[in-house]
Amino acid sequence: MKIKAKKQFGQNFLKDSTYIQQIIQAMPNDDLKVAEIGPGLGDLTKYLVDVKSVEAFEVDTDLCKLLQSKFDKEITTNLLRLNCGDVLEAWQGSLIDEDYDLVANLPYYIATNIILKALADSKCKNILVMVQLEVAEKFCASEGQKQFGSLGVITQSVGDAHIVVQVPPTAFEPPPKINSAVFLIEKNADRSDEVFESMLRVAFKQPRKTLMKNLSSVYDKEKLQEAFANLNFTLTIRPHQVSTNNYKELYKKLN
Ligand code: SAH
Repeated sequence: MKIKAKKQFGQNFLKDSTYIQQIIQAMPNDDLKVAEIGPGLGDLTKYLVDVKSVEAFEVDTDLCKLLQSKFDKEITTNLLRLNCGDVLEAWQGSLIDEDYDLVANLPYYIATNIILKALADSKCKNILVMVQLEVAEKFCASEGQKQFGSLGVITQSVGDAHIVVQVPPTAFEPPPKINSAVFLIEKNADRSDEVFESMLRVAFKQPRKTLMKNLSSVYDKEKLQEAFANLNFTLTIRPHQVSTNNYKELYKKLN
């Protein structure tokens, strides 16, 4: 069967095996199951089933059929479990019912949503994914960098993140228009505090404005001034200049 990449499912197949190897090498050194979202033609899956037990989620019926025959042996021996359907529909509570690492070249159009869900999923222990470079930079950013926003603060609140490797469009078939990157989040907690995150959304609402201006749209001015003085923030400090720990302190003082 000849498979043509479908745009609506964000299909860009990773063909350069150098990068597939780099993903495999960056995998957490544990015995956990791997969840793969969007196995596509199975190029990464092939390497994953060699080292781990894998549960994969693929929305495209044509690809699902192809994967079923390609991995017939692995499915029979339970090395691979294949779920055909939309992963976001299958993801109620935990994605799978045992501890797992998420390893995937994600569909980019829903990548941020998937990563945020994995950060909240208590069964998910580590996240090693390929996404659009810009998105990877947001999750991995630290205070002071211009990409540092609520995604960076949320990530630092639950673990450590770093970019493993940048990947050019030529590594894919068809090549996407943007650069990509693989990054790793090693979790040591789960995302759970919605009130903290709603404060972050207000803090970064207009990222180039001052933190004071953003926060004063919701919080009491006097309370803010007192908290800023307490934390030694200048009145002109910008949202990306405040560390995750200081956001946590600020949150305690405002709530
Ligand atoms: N991992 C493969 C393919 C990446 S392309 C590789 O590296 O080559 C993204 C994949 O995600 C495609 O196979 C696409 O069909 C699948 N996909 C897109 N939306 C999805 C969804 N909602 N649920 C599950 N899989 C999805």
